[in-house]
Amino acid sequence: MARVMADCRRFESDSNCSLTMLGAEEEVVHAAAAHAAAVHGHPDTPELREQLRGMLEPATRYGEARIPEPFPA
Ligand SMILES: [Zn+2]
Repeated sequence: MARVMADCRRFESDSNCSLTMLGAEEEVVHAAAAHAAAVHGHPDTPELREQLRGMLEPATRYGEARIPEPFPA
């Protein structure tokens, strides 16, 4: 199974978070939701998980430089 990536470097955050998560889709959605709640104060809801799922990228994009954007509301 192809691995996917959730990359906090894509988004602006108070902590300039540099965390990148790579793995199977379900693993990454779970880890990203837990991280978003614990570190960035997002409520861990089914809606957040769906939003995160829609942001997943191919893991092969890991090495690309990222320009942070605001996290979509
Ligand atoms: Zn983060």
